[in-house]
Amino acid sequence: MTKHIFVTGGVVSSLGKGLTSASIGMLLENRGLSVRMQKLDPYINVDPGTMSPYQHGEVYVLDDGSETDLDLGHYERFTHSPLFRDSNWTTGQIYKSVIDKERRGEYLGKTVQVIPHVTNEIKSCIRRLATNGVDVVITEIGGTIGDIESLPFLEAIRQFQIDVGRENCCFIHLTLVPYLKAARELKTKPTQHSVGQLRQIGIQPDFIVCRTEQPIAQEDIDKIALFCNVPAKHVVEERDADFSIYEVPLSLVDHKMDQMLVERLGLSNARELDLTKWHELLNALRHTKTEVTIAVVGKYAKHKDAYKSIYEALDHGGIANSASVRILRIPSENLEREETRAMLENVQGILLPGGFGERGVEGKIEAVRIAREHNIPFFGICLGMQCAVIEYARNVLGMTDANSTEFNKDVEYPVICLMDEQRSVTDMGGTMRLGSQPTSLIAGSRAASAYGSLDIQERHRHRYEFNYEYRDRFIDGGLVISGSSPDGKLVEVIEIEEHPWFVAVQYHPEFKSKPTHPHPLFKAFIAAAVRKRRGETEEKPSNA
Ligand code: GLN
Repeated sequence: MTKHIFVTGGVVSSLGKGLTSASIGMLLENRGLSVRMQKLDPYINVDPGTMSPYQHGEVYVLDDGSETDLDLGHYERFTHSPLFRDSNWTTGQIYKSVIDKERRGEYLGKTVQVIPHVTNEIKSCIRRLATNGVDVVITEIGGTIGDIESLPFLEAIRQFQIDVGRENCCFIHLTLVPYLKAARELKTKPTQHSVGQLRQIGIQPDFIVCRTEQPIAQEDIDKIALFCNVPAKHVVEERDADFSIYEVPLSLVDHKMDQMLVERLGLSNARELDLTKWHELLNALRHTKTEVTIAVVGKYAKHKDAYKSIYEALDHGGIANSASVRILRIPSENLEREETRAMLENVQGILLPGGFGERGVEGKIEAVRIAREHNIPFFGICLGMQCAVIEYARNVLGMTDANSTEFNKDVEYPVICLMDEQRSVTDMGGTMRLGSQPTSLIAGSRAASAYGSLDIQERHRHRYEFNYEYRDRFIDGGLVISGSSPDGKLVEVIEIEEHPWFVAVQYHPEFKSKPTHPHPLFKAFIAAAVRKRRGETEEKPSNA
């Protein structure tokens, strides 16, 4: 029988429900249990793919091409739970399925209502993960208790505990216990109110995880326990992890959260916790031999979640090289200023992430020029690769009026253009070239040397591509096309040989990096940054 853990959030948003859920998943997996992770998001978009990163942070892409919430990135970095379309449902998707069923006549004769039809649909999404051999499904409910739009999800999980039995379900409520400086006190009232609202809906949380800046005194723990109707030991303090998000599981273990969950759900097949590897990881993060500064130049640089997986993958690259990575977030528009350009010339690496739309693109192209001319290790991702191609065309091949047709349709040299398969696309949602696609690398290239393989699979999310018509002109002009789709038609990786490390890829390697398995390209990029810092030149890549 599969057990279910539901994670809800109260008081304020951005409490780190995703990280807490991922940490719980990691701990249960570590105890030998088979875990599946899932997020239910109450907004009406069918998926976050149509939202701006300013609204929602990064869009996280899965192997199967689903465009999902960034919390799924935490799930993948912390656990081995396979993630696919069923791992992220939104109100939009739920209603879409219900309305499609209504049109097909599946509810013929009935009035279709939130209860039971919408709630049944939500319950079936949860049940879909509880397949044979799965010990625990962890379902995170997006949003904050009190939001109107979360109500059907909360009602569905309330019913779910009746369907599968209270003993097979566990509710974890994450709240904030704020510290009031003026009163020099932690305040428990918002937590009491939030749990009160949950109980009105019919959900009694089993555990209350309290995010806090300060240690919570026993008397406050007792107060929360009393008002929220749980034993005091089920009130778990989760102190802000100042150093690294990878500390969160350890803080839960300090409060025996894993053991209490195992007992509460009767997970008798759980083995002892062994966090040796996790401690090694944190030690590697703590005791680095050097530091490198990497500039991430993007349109959304000010938004802390817009390039989440990239920032994580850079840290993973640091772990692999015993280096701490200082990330300088540079809004690409600022590159019009002399002092920003000067700042870029002094970093050990420049990373250009993906993006959409014209704003800030000229600044990105300028960042490529600086990296190329000043021999600064350069890593371009998706739009970052497209900007590198434009820069090479303009400044090396002399095609001054080169651009992507995404930004200028009537350009003289459309070196980046819409993919053929995209020309007839009219709907914007879920229609890009998405998900895992094969790439063939050429032997001896930096990419092949980093991967140690010639055949790779990486996740994509784009509509535009390197214009094939210009391929030979670039090759004659010295650009190395080191990776292509197996049919040779789509350019996937470019490199510049006469440069310490200049690699740009059409795909998104950041989605496949884990702290325990840093992505090969991030590892190689940070290695190049470390060499730059030491003033060393590059070793010749060995044949893969
Ligand atoms: N806007 C570009 C395209 O659609 C790049 C997309 C991206 O960086 N994810 O091809």
